[in-house]
Amino acid sequence: MNWIGQQMAWIMVSLAISLLFTMWLGLWGLIPAIAIFIGISYYMRRRMMARMGMGGGGGGFGSMLGAGGGINYICIACGHRFKGGACPRCGSKMRRADF
Ligand SMILES: [Zn+2]
Repeated sequence: MNWIGQQMAWIMVSLAISLLFTMWLGLWGLIPAIAIFIGISYYMRRRMMARMGMGGGGGGFGSMLGAGGGINYICIACGHRFKGGACPRCGSKMRRADF
């Protein structure tokens, strides 16, 4: 359950990989290093979302915005207010932002 420690470990691993790439390829090594870093952080975020019960249906820009800004959405189908990709009450993805 200690996902913060796990995430820190992953960040350390990806930093070590980044360092190896930059030592190996010089400045050009930053490109694969950054790609790996983004890939790992994206994977960790998806795993975290899945653990919080937000994974699956959401995906895409909706959940990215929901994770970043704390934007509330109102379900068009049933009027339920929620955060994330899809309505937890009726499962509808038809929603509008509520600021
Ligand atoms: Zn709904």
